[in-house]
Amino acid sequence: MAVTKTNFINYSRCPRYVALSDLKKDKLDSIVTLEEYLKEEEEEHIKELLCSMYDEDNNDLIDVKNEHLETMLPYYNKVELLAGFLAPKYFKGTFKYSAKTLSQESFDFKINGIRYLCYVDIYNEIDDNFNIIEVKATTTNKYLKIGKTIRDDLGNKKVNSIFKKGNDGIYYLLEDLNININDYMEEDKYYGYRQKLFNKLDPAGHYIYDLAIQRYIIENDLKQNNMNSKINNIKYYLAVLNADYIFDGKYEFDEPVYDTDRFGNDIICYFDMTSITKEYLDIIETSRKKVEMYIRNLKIDKYPIGDFCENKKTTVCKFKQICWEHIPKNNSIFNYIDSHHGFKDENGVKYDTFSLVNKGIVKMEDMPNNYLNRKKNIIQKESLINKTYVNKQKIVDGIKQITYPIYHLDFETFPCPLPRYKGEKCYTQSVFQFSLHIEKEPNKCDKYKDHYEFLAYNHNDLREELVKKLCEYIDTESGGTVLVYNDAFEKTRLKELAEIFPNYKDKLLKIKNMIFDLMNITKTKSSLYENLGYDKEEAKMFNYYHKDQSGSFSIKKFLPLFSNLTYKGMEIGNGVEAMIAYATFPKLNKREFKHKYQKLIEYCRQDTWAMYEVLKGLKKEVDYHD
Ligand code: SF4
Repeated sequence: MAVTKTNFINYSRCPRYVALSDLKKDKLDSIVTLEEYLKEEEEEHIKELLCSMYDEDNNDLIDVKNEHLETMLPYYNKVELLAGFLAPKYFKGTFKYSAKTLSQESFDFKINGIRYLCYVDIYNEIDDNFNIIEVKATTTNKYLKIGKTIRDDLGNKKVNSIFKKGNDGIYYLLEDLNININDYMEEDKYYGYRQKLFNKLDPAGHYIYDLAIQRYIIENDLKQNNMNSKINNIKYYLAVLNADYIFDGKYEFDEPVYDTDRFGNDIICYFDMTSITKEYLDIIETSRKKVEMYIRNLKIDKYPIGDFCENKKTTVCKFKQICWEHIPKNNSIFNYIDSHHGFKDENGVKYDTFSLVNKGIVKMEDMPNNYLNRKKNIIQKESLINKTYVNKQKIVDGIKQITYPIYHLDFETFPCPLPRYKGEKCYTQSVFQFSLHIEKEPNKCDKYKDHYEFLAYNHNDLREELVKKLCEYIDTESGGTVLVYNDAFEKTRLKELAEIFPNYKDKLLKIKNMIFDLMNITKTKSSLYENLGYDKEEAKMFNYYHKDQSGSFSIKKFLPLFSNLTYKGMEIGNGVEAMIAYATFPKLNKREFKHKYQKLIEYCRQDTWAMYEVLKGLKKEVDYHD
């Protein structure tokens, strides 16, 4: 089994990874077929998709089994095909691509008894020149958002990116475009932002690292085959989804057709990463030597954990359960709020969280008091001895903002990599379900009788049906509150739907304006409490903290605190599972579909019922009577 690109990335994490991998040293110079290679990459592709679909810190991702996530793989393959299909518009010559035709170009070289191998997503040949194009199911935002944030003439925030489109429609680093960088940002700042591309643990840097490994293997292959002269004739590109592309709703044989949109955007954009990957080659050479040393001296002993384990990321190391065994799931020092900033002692000496863990300070209670200089962290530690923190007055003042009837609302969405319906973009959070509990009077709501819902029953465009129902159920004329948990999500969805369905625009925007975030009460919201007369410090401090929250303010943590309900044991118990269940609809037989449909309704109902229970519990806690 040769060292592939994926292996290389993992083997360079730490010596223990190599020792724990069941690698056969004597097979390290063997060839890997494209089928084997693709199988190995599959898992990486799924992670890549999920990383773009959800925030990195989405714990739900970690618990979802890979076999379920495989539902997403066809979308990845389609992105690769689209990138290959569109490439001739931007590059001349001949192309080799597509996993389906098993015709991808491969490169390999052997050193110290180890073969390094890679296959190329799109291989483009123009006379004596070559282009290597790696396809990633991420979006242009990952690169175009790196740069200086400025305000436009209307006062809206925008980013002056370190990348800019050239006349050929391909994106380049400013330095590669022969333009004055100072016209876009101060040059020293530009080089500062650009540094992000060299951080392999950053999602943007990760893909550059991946492409640089590719380049390293290709160049060494050419050197070993006496084709050094070719090295300077190769350019390296990333092909990613265009975040600005808007699907116009054209279908052929029931499949979306991704023609150029009405603003002239193609669904795929290409980024020239030739100069940046060149700079990376020395780093890859050092990593290769390190990997070989790890392979030669297999060391299975405990290794100090670090950010390279990529905890809580989709790229988390597969051996985390072994190496992190001593870290409790709840109330470890990682669960201290803002622990990623590290800790300082009374002399201002800073300690990185990993260094403390590796010194044996693992649980929250292990942390010396003099290392805790954030008030939130002090409260967290105190909560361990059954001292729940409650700011009664702030909670009461928060509850007073809520008027009746209360519409407890929650959306479930499918952030599809490729837009499915008119008006959608890549990774649009396409709403397929809502749950609504209507609490007409304080504490008067029946879990079943006062529950309203809509759940798409197939993958057709049912958004209008959903919007119609939502507008029917919520009476925007008689006042009241639309209560959600984490309002940015629901507000953005309502705004998007209002743009897509002009007939419902006014009503949807009214619903949006009725939104109040229950998290303003459980956690806090600085601007709200400052407006209510609290000073800055108190306004930004959380309102409630119990040790079972373990540093989190999610509704799933609050529900068991205020009721005997829990998400544990539910067949669909989190948003990612709900999305996967919906994604599998077309594959299910009638019986399976009925079952999944029911489970999805139960899950979503639980989410809005949880808000009702938590609000009721909070009122009881602070002795509030409407
Ligand atoms: S979990 Fe961390 S320390 Fe353990 S093998 Fe993986 S990267 Fe290395």
